Amino acid sequence: MIFRSPYVKTPRIPEMRLLIGNSFRTIIWAIAIIVISTLAAIVVMWRAPALKLAARDALVRTRGASSPPDEVVIVAIDEASLKRFGRFPWPRSLMAQALNKLSDARPKVIALNVLYTDPTNEADDAALAEAIKRAGNVVVAAQLDKAQQGDARWTRPLPAIENAAAATGHGNVPTDSDGVARFLTLRKTDNEANPLWAIAVEVIRVGDGLRPDDARDVPDAVMIGSRAIPVEAEAETDAISTGDAGSSPQTYRASQMAIDYIGPAGSFADRTTSIADLIDGRAGPEKFNGKYVLIGLTAAAMGDRVVSPFAGRNDELTPGVEVLANAITTILRSSFYGETSDWVSALWAAIIAAVAVGAVILAQGKRESIKQIAALLGIAALTLGFSYLAFARWKVEPPLVSALVSLVFAAPLSLLLRSLMVSASLDERIAEMTRESARLSPFAIDNKVVAAKRAWWPRGASRKARALGALQERLLARTQFVDRALQSVEDGLLIADAAGRIAFANPRAASILGLGQRSLLGSNLFDRLSEIEYGADSPAADRAGAPLRLLHDRVTIEREIVVGTAEPRYYTLRMAAVSDDSGGLGVPLGVVAILSDVTKQRELQRMQNDVMRLVTHEMKTPLTAIKGMSEVMMKFDPGAQKRREMNAAINEATERMTRMIDDYLDLTRLESGARESRMAWRKVESLIEQNLLLLDPVAARRGVTLTRKFAPDLPPIFADADLLTRALTNLVANAIKYSPVDTEVVISAWAGEDNLFIVVADHGYGIPPEHLASIFEKFFRVPRVEDAETPGTGLGLALVREIAELHGGRVTVDSEVGAGSIFTLRLPLNRKPI
Ligand code: ADP
Repeated sequence: MIFRSPYVKTPRIPEMRLLIGNSFRTIIWAIAIIVISTLAAIVVMWRAPALKLAARDALVRTRGASSPPDEVVIVAIDEASLKRFGRFPWPRSLMAQALNKLSDARPKVIALNVLYTDPTNEADDAALAEAIKRAGNVVVAAQLDKAQQGDARWTRPLPAIENAAAATGHGNVPTDSDGVARFLTLRKTDNEANPLWAIAVEVIRVGDGLRPDDARDVPDAVMIGSRAIPVEAEAETDAISTGDAGSSPQTYRASQMAIDYIGPAGSFADRTTSIADLIDGRAGPEKFNGKYVLIGLTAAAMGDRVVSPFAGRNDELTPGVEVLANAITTILRSSFYGETSDWVSALWAAIIAAVAVGAVILAQGKRESIKQIAALLGIAALTLGFSYLAFARWKVEPPLVSALVSLVFAAPLSLLLRSLMVSASLDERIAEMTRESARLSPFAIDNKVVAAKRAWWPRGASRKARALGALQERLLARTQFVDRALQSVEDGLLIADAAGRIAFANPRAASILGLGQRSLLGSNLFDRLSEIEYGADSPAADRAGAPLRLLHDRVTIEREIVVGTAEPRYYTLRMAAVSDDSGGLGVPLGVVAILSDVTKQRELQRMQNDVMRLVTHEMKTPLTAIKGMSEVMMKFDPGAQKRREMNAAINEATERMTRMIDDYLDLTRLESGARESRMAWRKVESLIEQNLLLLDPVAARRGVTLTRKFAPDLPPIFADADLLTRALTNLVANAIKYSPVDTEVVISAWAGEDNLFIVVADHGYGIPPEHLASIFEKFFRVPRVEDAETPGTGLGLALVREIAELHGGRVTVDSEVGAGSIFTLRLPLNRKPI
């Protein structure tokens, strides 16, 4: 089974933390940006009014031209008429002719946008005055000339002409600093408080058939009858003192009206008739009937031209009469634009700045910069679109300049704020890491890493780099420390990833697994573990089960494993899943395995168990016998014969116990290494022979013959004579004990290449195969009827095995029930055992 490594998520600090983490400071900074941008917008709005005008012109041009109204016609003193009648000024009778032709057509009103200030030939002047009078609806032009020191004087038409006219209007067209004529001053006055309405106003008034006082000021507007021309309430006033002592100075509001041009110069071309055509009778009266007829100069040579908002760099200038036509059209169509107050402009600027800051802060995540730029461009586009809509649809002059200025300030500032926020959050993370690293550090904290305090201004890049460098050093030191510590652990330590690949193994683990530290890395932990436990043929089920239980069921595995057969060592293997949280229930990242050597504890435990067994089982039987017989002797008088028998039995039981304790203590001493071995070179034959001589009588008692079969020239052996004698005695005594009477026990000895073999073969009862493995264990006795009475401790063969191993040899057995047993003691030659 393949255990796939689960996708390990690195804990991500949520993006919004950037915001929330510094929310207070961020809000303060954001407000600061909004205020700065708004103030900038206000300053620009006030200090650079030209920008506002340019923005307005741009909006006008974007909106485009519209068609001229039917009611307005122009009678142009154009190039063609100059050609026809010669250079201007013409004889006034010529204009009188034209006026007469016009009045015959019964126009609504005639505006004579030509100055007739100086007298010429009397007859001509009279003719013109007569024609004006005859028409009855002619508005004539005056002009306010400003001399130095604010001295303003009217240049008015000849009194005869002015008296004949229906009204006199001023023909001044003010231009802004950039030379563009955008506004019309509705009323002007000279220094003597003689006000005149603009021609456009008088034309409308006369056209509507209203009296002179029907054109009047009201708050916020100039009224012409029922037509209202909105003006700015807080417009400047021309304060004029009448000069009379005691009379309060009269004030006149300089009401201005924005001219809503229908298009660039020449927009009224369709409605224009050359005066030459009129005079020569080429223009029919239907052209002028009921119309607003405006007579003026259009010939380029004549000057009197202004720049309209539509005029591009190379565009034609607009003649004054056409400006008048535009002004009249504006009033007729009531085409006025609502102004936005400075307060609204400032508020709008603040809103735009706030939206920009908000958008930049919120545009986070992937492709952050692109998102931010897109957001800002979007805001700019929306502002422009909205402004256009406001202007073209709702006839409101939008605060475009303040909005754009605000955006121009807010955009880079909010981008800066954003990078400062990121920088500040970096500071915080560095600070956090610094704190963490200090907590983790096993050493005294050095002062190298300065934890960043919460600051209003993030730290510089070089400072960050320094702090990160110091942090890196500290973490590196920490990592090295942990690594060394893990390497030095006395237990075997193995760490594997979730797929079971070993990622770390300390030297102890490598030596337990019998492999190099490097070759362990990357190999499968579970394979390695089952190899040392079972060898190559490890059960597959075990390999698959462990990872599943560890990583899926989150069970901690703890079991004992035995490594090696000759000198087995015991280890406690503990395995647990490494989890990505401290609770241990998170995503499993891997497995950690610890191998603790418990061989010593095992031995100790076994010894304790042996003692327990000795006391609880082996000594109980003889003690019970002794107790029973001594009680009988105490309570009854069994007679001399019986007492002797009982005494003998007690003596035998005591002896058996003594022997058992002796044997046990010997064995324990040998096992624990407490007994000093007395090794020396011995002759094998004599060693065995001495032994057999002692046993011969015992064998004889059972009618058993001990036959010696020693190979000639046996080499000497380096051995502990006492121990070896003890082992031999046990083997031969057993052979005698567990054989029927009148049999033979053969003791043979020969030397191989490296080993000396001493073999004790009998024709005894033999040992059933199922017990063969157990006979060398302590206290083990083969349950058998034949020797049920034979005394024994079950420690003899254990002692033999211990002695053989102490000499670097082994003892083995070959046996067949009913046929006999062969015990072979193999001892290494030419080798000094421990
Ligand atoms: P014991 O004190 O009982 O002899 P040992 O450790 O010497 O203890 O032997 C253990 C058991 O092995 C004996 O109880 C006996 O049943 C069996 N055994 C030992 N040697 C022989 C042998 N030569 N033939 C048959 N059985 C034997």
